[in-house]
Amino acid sequence: MSKVPKTPKIKLDTDIDLNKFFSSYKRIIIKVGSSLLVDKKTRKIRSDWLAAFSKDVSSLLKINKEIIIVSSGAIALGRNSINSPENILNLQENQAAASVGQIELAYSWKDALEKEKIKCAQILLSPDDTETRRRHLNARATIATLIKSKIVPVINENDTVTTSEIKFGDNDRLAARVAQMSSSDLLILLSDIDGLYDKNPHQYENSKHIPVVSEITDKIINMAGSSHYEHASGGMITKLEAAKITRLSGCTLIICNGENEHSILKLSQGCKHTIFIVNDTPLTARKKWIAAGLNISGSLIVDKGATEALKKGSSLLPAGVIKVRGIFEKGDLIDIYSDYKTKIASGLTSYNSKEVELIMGKKTKDIYQSLGYSGRDELIHRDDLVLKTSSK
Ligand code: GLU
Repeated sequence: MSKVPKTPKIKLDTDIDLNKFFSSYKRIIIKVGSSLLVDKKTRKIRSDWLAAFSKDVSSLLKINKEIIIVSSGAIALGRNSINSPENILNLQENQAAASVGQIELAYSWKDALEKEKIKCAQILLSPDDTETRRRHLNARATIATLIKSKIVPVINENDTVTTSEIKFGDNDRLAARVAQMSSSDLLILLSDIDGLYDKNPHQYENSKHIPVVSEITDKIINMAGSSHYEHASGGMITKLEAAKITRLSGCTLIICNGENEHSILKLSQGCKHTIFIVNDTPLTARKKWIAAGLNISGSLIVDKGATEALKKGSSLLPAGVIKVRGIFEKGDLIDIYSDYKTKIASGLTSYNSKEVELIMGKKTKDIYQSLGYSGRDELIHRDDLVLKTSSK
């Protein structure tokens, strides 16, 4: 009797498209705006849209992409609960609305992603968390740990504590800062427009879509400035601000229309979009950022073993440190010397100078005993370390 042939495992077209389109990107941030997630009239979550989006996220995770979501919607979901005589909410009312809406927002994400067997985590950030170096390192490490555990971080601005002067203001910029902090390769801004046009496409029939931007010139900024064609908060100008940040971080940025269901899949199948291409990788861009513009707060002298290990690209562990010079805080930039005068590297420290005094020369497993709490294994992680090419 002839054997029944096994059904060959055929890859779904969707996988092929996603694999191809996203082949150069590993860590991807997707920013979802309020207008996509919350129905304008009912002020309820657009659950079909969210279910389809969660399926796209699941497909990306299955092809081994790391996903971070930046989601707006807290104010839109919460505003009906706030008693206000005015149609436009003031700052406190917006903050109160966000505190109500954020709960529903987080639950909606949890429910939708759980249906795809995806675990998620809520992170609320304020600008200080991405710009103060110590807090930047903490937030960065939290995001990295979640991703390692295959949990999708869902991030929003901490609207209830940030006031207008210190706000990111819009989630386009927040998403760009998160991209920078998490060394992401790609940021997708899902919007209600399919990218940048040379003039307002709602007004001018002959407006031209710009598919690729390799440099953010004045001409490009003028195109966005002259055409306030986007309905969602942010607008094209803030998207260009975001693109400037991601450019410096070695992160590619894509603006595409997210209004239809499965917009990520559609993007991979050739849906119109604008891509802002970059020259650096996130890692080289981060190292340039570390090497430039920061003040040196102190230094360490390390032993021969650590010197060799650093030169081979390893992180600096407490065991290799012989001496601490100066007073510095967590997240400060410090220099590393192989003896009293030969500088070999600089990097962002995960411990302050007092802590380094206590843990230097010790094994990583003894950090807890020396400090009374557990910290990072690395004193300076290799991603936060820049080798010096010639000694000074
Ligand atoms: N963080 C705000 C919210 O969740 C939205 C800001 C924005 O959409 O840019 O409602």
